[in-house]
Amino acid sequence: MNSTPSDADRRRSAKPVVVYPPETLPDAGVAAKLAALSGYAKTGEMLVPPREARCFRVPAGGVFRIVSVEGPQVGDLNLWNAGALSERLFSGKTRALHGTHVTTGDRLWSVLPYLRPMATLIEDTLGWYGIDADGGGVHDVIGTRCDPYTGQLLSGTTYHRCCHSNLTRALADELGMALNDAERHVHDVLNVFMCTGFTRDTGQYFMKASPVRPGDRLTLFAEIDLLGALSACPGGDCGGEHSSDVAACHPLLVEVFEGDPPEGWASPEVSGYDRSHGR
Ligand SMILES: [Zn+2]
Repeated sequence: MNSTPSDADRRRSAKPVVVYPPETLPDAGVAAKLAALSGYAKTGEMLVPPREARCFRVPAGGVFRIVSVEGPQVGDLNLWNAGALSERLFSGKTRALHGTHVTTGDRLWSVLPYLRPMATLIEDTLGWYGIDADGGGVHDVIGTRCDPYTGQLLSGTTYHRCCHSNLTRALADELGMALNDAERHVHDVLNVFMCTGFTRDTGQYFMKASPVRPGDRLTLFAEIDLLGALSACPGGDCGGEHSSDVAACHPLLVEVFEGDPPEGWASPEVSGYDRSHGR
């Protein structure tokens, strides 16, 4: 068995290499999409009650906006291709491409074998936050979603209003599915408005009170036909307890806008890889 090498410090000081430099990604077209939005009309809105989730649909070329209302609240977002639930948000690759937290100009990518942009972030009023002294940022793709299984595992408790369960109920209601069938489609989320990071010393996942204020919003351009689900997390601003009824919780507003998309824009194709895997 190897012991600590004598040149351990030298090995630790190897230069970090960005795994996926994003410069070769197609341009996100934020300015053109924002300009188009000014001519769009609001076609729907929905209030997500605290400790609940709701589904919404956005056609390709449309825009949806998640708005903080009443008080600080975190939202857990799932996205699917409205025509095929197997294509859904790939938080891991989104993180690898854009970093632990996303903001204007970043895209939300779908799972393999599709791997295409599902939505583009075109406006983020919390973009000012950046990365704080603890290493925390807003809108992460590092958390999974609060769920009743982890509560069972860590504390033996049963709680039914975790984001995982809220998303499951919302999807089941939207599609007329059995709960157990809907649950299989619930996946790792974009944590909208949540402030999270990893502790510098131990690398542990942490959360802190969200800086979100009523009026803050995250605006996304739908690159493909989308079915979305948003849960108003039982953690509220996620500054203390979650997976319980203790935290103060507030609703979240989802608005949908439709109109003429920017000239030259086309819904992206799925990955061009031939899927032969070397055979
Ligand atoms: Zn949650």
